[in-house]
Amino acid sequence: MNDLPAQISLDQWAERYRQLCDGGLREPWYGGPLARHLADGDYRLLRLRYDNSAAALRLWNFLLTEESRLFKARQEGKKIIGTMKDLGTVPIMAYSLPNAIAFYPDGAWWVPCIMENTTRDLRIADSLGIDESFCPVRAMLGAFVACEHFPQPDLLICSVGATCDDFSAIAQRLASVGYSPFWWEIPHRRRPDPDEPAVTLPGGFAAPVSQVAFVKGELQRIRRELSTVCSRELTDDMLAAGIRVANRVRGMLRELRQLVFTAPRCPLPALELLIAEMLAIHYCSDRGETLAVYQDLLDEVRRRVADNQGLFPADPARIFWVNPVADLRAMNLLEECGGRLCGTEFLFCHALDEIPEDVSPMDALAQMALADPMVGSAGDRAMRICNDARRLNAEAVLISRIPGASHCALEGRVIREMIESELRLPVLELEVPPLSDAVGPAIQTRMQALVEAVRQRRAR
Ligand code: SF4
Repeated sequence: MNDLPAQISLDQWAERYRQLCDGGLREPWYGGPLARHLADGDYRLLRLRYDNSAAALRLWNFLLTEESRLFKARQEGKKIIGTMKDLGTVPIMAYSLPNAIAFYPDGAWWVPCIMENTTRDLRIADSLGIDESFCPVRAMLGAFVACEHFPQPDLLICSVGATCDDFSAIAQRLASVGYSPFWWEIPHRRRPDPDEPAVTLPGGFAAPVSQVAFVKGELQRIRRELSTVCSRELTDDMLAAGIRVANRVRGMLRELRQLVFTAPRCPLPALELLIAEMLAIHYCSDRGETLAVYQDLLDEVRRRVADNQGLFPADPARIFWVNPVADLRAMNLLEECGGRLCGTEFLFCHALDEIPEDVSPMDALAQMALADPMVGSAGDRAMRICNDARRLNAEAVLISRIPGASHCALEGRVIREMIESELRLPVLELEVPPLSDAVGPAIQTRMQALVEAVRQRRAR
């Protein structure tokens, strides 16, 4: 059996799957051939290219079975906690309870892409006045109203305050059609005044101690609500144990990213890395299985790096990618144009940082929530991106704008100007719609131009 790394199509996965099974592949309950997900309407799979490893197969199968996992948890009597917007903090609290699982309804923003606009979600959002002037997270509103893609949560928890206009408007519209989110406030993170007591947050931003105390109070309210809904007191010991598991998850992901970004030959494609990063936010509704999926990916990537195996020919351009893409196909496109990922900032870098274990669990979670790059200034976010791009030897930065996203209009410029002035690297800003086929050639041309710019700089 040929185990050399390669990218293959969905059709080629049929033969590859047979080979893996003949070779003794052992799969978890959600395993199976990738093409079976077409029957669920996941038509975009036909247009993607995949890593050919058993570890990648497990990753994809895990991602694409989240819906059935959530319904199974409901049947087993677990409480389903819908967490909205904070990306990474509240799920740690929910998973600290033995009878709760958490998921992000926000994740429905990829449904129009994965199902190639064959669902009613966007039409429903349109009919409720949330049209395409909003970002693709508006699909979440349609998904709630259509009762599709996830079970109705026992508790819905949503952050307000320092959130984008899109999410704020969509969440308010959700409340107006009968849902009752438990609102909690995350303040805009500000720089501490001179002589004001301050804390250095995970990831390096600073915040006033008073803001950490305020967020801690808000998280205490969530803690009480979770305890009530789950009929179980959420103690400090349970939270501390939940933080330890979160740090295990994050530690594995950190090693994976470091290997993928820095190995001489790229050991894992951009698309699989993006999916792997997303698991860290809410464990794709199964915390234990996330650890197992990461372990397989790490084993595969370590083996490839040790054997000097990798994908893509001849020294691809090292690209730092900013923002998640609405169309997953764009990640393939980067590599087809001669690039590889050397760093990422997909809006949730705070969910990858190690959580402090030397302070009380509630203080640690409050610090983490305030470390969210989206609750501070665009300048702060740009600075972190700049530092990471420098550390990872990026040769160019690609900022993928999210259609309709309120923060993308000006933030891209702030990031671009800082990268250009501090690092003097080429920067490409481009908008990627949920289905990018119509503009694919234009996106491809612009990515090729970025890669060409990198090659010219190397030749100087
Ligand atoms: S505008 Fe950006 S931050 Fe806000 S919901 Fe959309 S993608 Fe998320």
